[in-house]
Amino acid sequence: MELTDFTEFEPFNALRRQMGAEKLGFFELFDPAIHLTGEERSELENAGRLLPLEKVEVLGDKTLAIKNSRVLMYIPDESWHRSHRAYPSFHVALCETLEQCRQEDPKREYLVTTRIADDYQLLKIRPSGEVSVSEHGFVICKHCLHRLRYKNYDEYRNRRRGHSQKILSDFSLAEFFRLYKQYPLSFNAKRES
Ligand SMILES: [Zn+2]
Repeated sequence: MELTDFTEFEPFNALRRQMGAEKLGFFELFDPAIHLTGEERSELENAGRLLPLEKVEVLGDKTLAIKNSRVLMYIPDESWHRSHRAYPSFHVALCETLEQCRQEDPKREYLVTTRIADDYQLLKIRPSGEVSVSEHGFVICKHCLHRLRYKNYDEYRNRRRGHSQKILSDFSLAEFFRLYKQYPLSFNAKRES
């Protein structure tokens, strides 16, 4: 089937001139292989999705994405945090901790979400299989901030300790996703990032 080339379709060109639109503009056709469907977006925004790290794309800037949306992820199991003596934290980049977790167990599943909250649900799973919600709050992962050098955050430089401490305590996910656009990511943005 031959498609009409609308750039040579005079009535449209006349209309464009009338509108004062010089450029042809840019658009992407919807492709479910690279664009989240409405259903996927609402799943990520609400319950989130349990996925191993290999199903999450690591962008050029080391942030994490599912198709055309940046995401964050965390281990929802409280006993993991207890056995690793780790404070519950969520990840926004492929950091040292995630790399270690991947080595430890490549099939480990993470709760992947686009929801901006500070009360992600950490689940207590008892040996009996009983599940309840833990009262622990989540914090941003320091290693992620370091990996991104978020606002010049540096975990190891003493000279920057005061500055880095402030970045950590002032961290807001809403602001993070203002600096690192959450959605929609265009193909070009993903490549350049
Ligand atoms: Zn991290």
